[in-house]
Amino acid sequence: MPDPMPTAAPDALPLGDDLRAFVDASPSPSHAVAELARRLRAAGFTELAEADSWAPAPGGQHFVVRHGSLIAFRVGSGAPAESGLRIVGAHTDSPTFKVRPNNDVRQAGYRLVGVEPYGGGLWHTWLDRELTVAGRLALRGGTTALVRLPGAPLRLPSLAIHLDRSVREGLTLDAQQHLVPVWDRDLGSEPGLVEALAAAAGVSAGDVVGHDLVLADTQPAARAGADGTWIAAPRLDNQFSCHSGVLALLAAPAGDRTQVLVCNDHEEVGSGSMSGARGSFLEDVVQRLAADPADPQAVHRALARSVLVSADMAHAVHPTRSERHEPSHRPQLGGGPVLKVNANQAYATDATTGGWFRERCDAAGVPLQTFVTRADLPCGSTIGPLTATRLGVPTVDVGAPQLAMHSCRELASADDVPLMVGALTACLAD
Ligand SMILES: [Zn+2]
Repeated sequence: MPDPMPTAAPDALPLGDDLRAFVDASPSPSHAVAELARRLRAAGFTELAEADSWAPAPGGQHFVVRHGSLIAFRVGSGAPAESGLRIVGAHTDSPTFKVRPNNDVRQAGYRLVGVEPYGGGLWHTWLDRELTVAGRLALRGGTTALVRLPGAPLRLPSLAIHLDRSVREGLTLDAQQHLVPVWDRDLGSEPGLVEALAAAAGVSAGDVVGHDLVLADTQPAARAGADGTWIAAPRLDNQFSCHSGVLALLAAPAGDRTQVLVCNDHEEVGSGSMSGARGSFLEDVVQRLAADPADPQAVHRALARSVLVSADMAHAVHPTRSERHEPSHRPQLGGGPVLKVNANQAYATDATTGGWFRERCDAAGVPLQTFVTRADLPCGSTIGPLTATRLGVPTVDVGAPQLAMHSCRELASADDVPLMVGALTACLAD
């Protein structure tokens, strides 16, 4: 039996448009964190610094930033050891190219920007698109500045078919040789990339001491499809879930349980960093929220009563390649959140956590689809199993369905935004 299809919610298009605005504001993980922070601040959340000492009071709404990652929380009225935590997790990064430290490449009369692939992108989809550079600059004195080069200054042009007809048998791209974006003609004496970025950020080039910069597509996210309910956009994996997560946290009513949103960087490269899901960020915040000097076991008791909903995108069935999907598990665009299950623990879902999520969806009137990969195909993974492994927290892997995952321009449905927000809100409000 296929999973049942919902009828579209009336707020699907407005929420889809809000997702488009979120993606357009977030060309890099640092920008995504800044956009999350902006929305949280507007709703009354205040920022805490990891270097300060905190004593969050019940009802307190705060967020903490660690590089390209953010954790936001609303403190519940009950002690975490008694009430547990409800946590939604997502990731801020997407496959892209990272700008190299020494990036001034000059060849064939052009200036190019030296970059290195980041994550497992469908790199051919980056050809012939209007690109820019975005991210953060490290400044002398220990501060940082967000930056995005204006306009669409970069491009990865295809080679004309007349110059290589073998492309008909399949395109082969060598990352070192072919995936180097062109910036300008080489006229000899132009300012370099750092000078251009410093000017765009309004800082002195001499003050720039480092950078985390990625390539980003500049075409704004668009309504698409026959009735405009599809969303064509870069970085839907996983900015869709960051967006749904923050809307859910803002919508969830305060209760006895502490509600947490964690958006980690570096998922696309294995999560092994101080801000990634294999790092200590979530554990450190949970410690600070749940520790109780009178009860040395408070953190363990809190985690045992908690649930983490790992929200990352799921593969909708492909219209012309449906044979690549398991025949009994074919999520549809617009069909609602997808419960992701894998026998080999590429997803953390088990009977109890999956059942818990299904109950929350039922209560919220949200339809639930299911995904398992074919037995003869390997399965992608998420922050779910990594966080579950590190923290020992019961975890369920879910996500909105999408097509063209890891393309420069992906496709999702606006119908799934209110459904995902509704499901995550029900989980946080549990
Ligand atoms: Zn993802």
